[in-house]
Amino acid sequence: MSKKLILASNNAKKLRELQALMTPLGVSLVTQGDLSIPEAEEPHITFVENALAKARHAAQLGHGPALADDSGLCVDALGGAPGVHSARYAVDAGQIKADAGREHIDPANNAWLLSQMAAHTHRQAHFTCVLVAVRHANDPEPLIAEGHWAGQLLRTPEGEHGFGYDPLLFIESHGVSSAQLPPEVKNAISHRAVACARLLEMMRTRWGIDAAAHWPWMPA
Ligand code: IMP
Repeated sequence: MSKKLILASNNAKKLRELQALMTPLGVSLVTQGDLSIPEAEEPHITFVENALAKARHAAQLGHGPALADDSGLCVDALGGAPGVHSARYAVDAGQIKADAGREHIDPANNAWLLSQMAAHTHRQAHFTCVLVAVRHANDPEPLIAEGHWAGQLLRTPEGEHGFGYDPLLFIESHGVSSAQLPPEVKNAISHRAVACARLLEMMRTRWGIDAAAHWPWMPA
């Protein structure tokens, strides 16, 4: 019988991707929305603090183990910006209204980033994904897995796949932008894929060799 892990997100794409990874462990993900848990604040300046806050919040209100993620784009020449502010980069800069809708905010973020990078020739950047899993809200040993995916920032957006900053990150190993990669290729090599693989390994080694059946603190 599978055990329940609360996912501190209501994003259907993340649910699908993470559920596929958890199934072999005998773990079913339940979104926090399914449990009527409101979204947590994300007031911190690092990915790990925000992911940890989201995981603890979901574990506390859902009374069980929880998994959360935080991700974004970090640009070397900008000291790691936009970082945890990636989703609202152009909104925070007053370039677009917060309620404009994702389909308008993503291009505005890209345009704002390109304007900030206009004078820079050092264009190295990477996506970061941090996944945090806790056994309960006060877990003193959260599992923390990080993944990076590096590339060079283009000067104009390229490609139609993906979301967010995908059209701006040129992936040298494949010779195209992240948004030009077929989704299955991106999903196999991205920052999220790397973090997921690391988290899975940690769940196996730190929570027990085998599978969720051996985790007494995880409800069925
Ligand atoms: P979230 O953690 O899924 O909310 O992502 C935060 C923001 O980081 C997104 O809104 C995007 O702007 C950016 N981001 C995170 N992952 C990716 C990715 O795989 N491609 C492009 N942008 C991303």
